[in-house]
Amino acid sequence: MDFLPFTRPSIDEDTISRVGEVLRSGWITTGPKCRELEAALSGFVGGRPVRVVSSATAALEMALRVAGIGPGDEVITCPMSWVATANVILAVGATPVFVDADAATRNIDLDRIEAAITPRTRALIPVDLAGLPVDRDRLYALAGRHGLRVIEDAAQSMGSLWKGERIGCRGDLVSFSFHANKNMTSGEGGCLVLNNEDEARLFEKLRLQGVTRSADGGMDVDVLGGKANMTDIAAVIGLGQLARLPAFNQRRRELARRYFDEFPRDLGFDLPLTDFDHSNWHMFQPLLPLDAMRVGRGDFIAAMKEEGIGVGVHYPAMHLFTLFRGRGFAEGDFPVAEDIGRRTVTLPLFPAMSDDDVSRVCATTRRVLNSVLK
Ligand SMILES: *Cc1c(COP(=O)(O)O)cnc(C)c1O
Repeated sequence: MDFLPFTRPSIDEDTISRVGEVLRSGWITTGPKCRELEAALSGFVGGRPVRVVSSATAALEMALRVAGIGPGDEVITCPMSWVATANVILAVGATPVFVDADAATRNIDLDRIEAAITPRTRALIPVDLAGLPVDRDRLYALAGRHGLRVIEDAAQSMGSLWKGERIGCRGDLVSFSFHANKNMTSGEGGCLVLNNEDEARLFEKLRLQGVTRSADGGMDVDVLGGKANMTDIAAVIGLGQLARLPAFNQRRRELARRYFDEFPRDLGFDLPLTDFDHSNWHMFQPLLPLDAMRVGRGDFIAAMKEEGIGVGVHYPAMHLFTLFRGRGFAEGDFPVAEDIGRRTVTLPLFPAMSDDDVSRVCATTRRVLNSVLK
């Protein structure tokens, strides 16, 4: 039987031939396709300004710069995320302050944020893990009460909904990723939704060496920018993907429902919330019943692979990485994130999967787990 990876992008032949057209056009870096993708993304989020970049990591870092956050400032986020979320806080010279995850949503525990706010706190970076949105009403009420900026790390929640409205349509700065594993991809890439044209112009400068060009062919540099522009090669892939995103996410929801119908719940796994109204089902992640197992997670993953099924880990709690331990974080600081980080496994979920693939994953999971229970 074919190996089933935990994810795989769906790129159609039309998109592949459009990449060929860009390559033949003589203009392969930032150009008309990037502008077309920005316009399409803006349409997707209700007309707000959107700018594309080479990664969501770049988008998040420059979002912090747009918000004027730097040395001496504290930024609150959750240790249950891809490490990019906190790396960007360090990159601008600010201090990451972690707040533990909520065991039910696996997102930042909104009840614990207030206790972490100090006079130096400037912003919140919530993460929509696996595509399940953080409660936007509570989040923005809290940010408003304390005068904090919000930089939404919506890398995983493109097309997720909050009360019927797409993530990105409302809020402060919102970052999406088009990494190969995300619900839509441009190979590598990302974008930032901004509040107004002034912010968008600053962001444009930051993404390309701080340069502003004038109509007479002159240029000036008045701010230190980096190098994070997207290519038209990537943008044309993004355009093909954005057109199919609603269908992709619909298929992901169907597959997730099937997982909940067929999953061996009796074996002691903790399943994610069944939130079909909000999540784009970026990932399906049960938590292993490690205490009932004779082997560790690595052995479970190896046994699944042996049976032809790819399993990922997203993510170990990031405060336990050496970089963050070096900043004083330790085991026991955030027990919920640590528990998720130890037990989580990402099972295959991507739009090209068949219903039978889900059944096969569920049956294999049952067989493999049964063989390693105490
Ligand atoms: C993927 C991801 C990022 C980073 O996106 P890149 O485009 O790879 O830079 C940041 N945060 C989260 C939660 C992610 O899943």
